[in-house]
Amino acid sequence: MSGSLPQQTTVLIVGAGPCGMAAAVSMYHQGLRDITIVDALLPGENSSRAMVIHAATLEFTHPMPPALDSIGCLERLLPLGEKMERVGIHDGSSYILSIEFALLKAYTKYPFGFVIPQSSTEGVMLEVLGELGIKVFRR
Ligand SMILES: Cc1cc2nc3c(=O)[nH]c(=O)nc-3n(C[C@H](O)[C@H](O)[C@H](O)COP(=O)(O)OP(=O)(O)OC[C@H]3O[C@@H](n4cnc5c(N)ncnc54)[C@H](O)[C@@H]3O)c2cc1C
Repeated sequence: MSGSLPQQTTVLIVGAGPCGMAAAVSMYHQGLRDITIVDALLPGENSSRAMVIHAATLEFTHPMPPALDSIGCLERLLPLGEKMERVGIHDGSSYILSIEFALLKAYTKYPFGFVIPQSSTEGVMLEVLGELGIKVFRR
């Protein structure tokens, strides 16, 4: 967003990537209200690096780092991506490496790699921040 930075803030987060935004939403859920995020770049300018989110980031396993389902973002993200059950490297005739995410079934309710561009993840998190009244100041 444009506009001038507040004169003071309780929490200042530098970086509106997935980690900074998840930290902000998590702190909000833990009772903090006066949170400001700054980023040097406009939305989308930081490119889209992450394309797969793994189970531990999706689900609540530990209070830190905050997981996407514990901060109310996962339900909105799931329709925007694809669940990847396995990934492999093929040499033209056979697989030389195969990773089966289904093997994680005993340990997580999300036994898949979740394929989604980082820009989509950030879009949803920005939406959630807006609803909570947390502002991102850019440039
Ligand atoms: C090629 C590549 C592929 C990757 N693929 C995956 C993947 O598939 N899955 C995965 O989980 N991870 C992947 N990663 C790691 C990925 O970068 C992180 O998961 C994700 O981007 C981390 O988010 P972040 O918020 O920590 O950092 P970033 O996404 O880098 O966001 C940091 C933000 O902080 C801002 N910033 C930094 N310094 C300052 C400053 N001094 N002042 C103001 N703003 C600042 C930047 O502009 C940026 O918007 C990949 C990384 C690379 C390089």
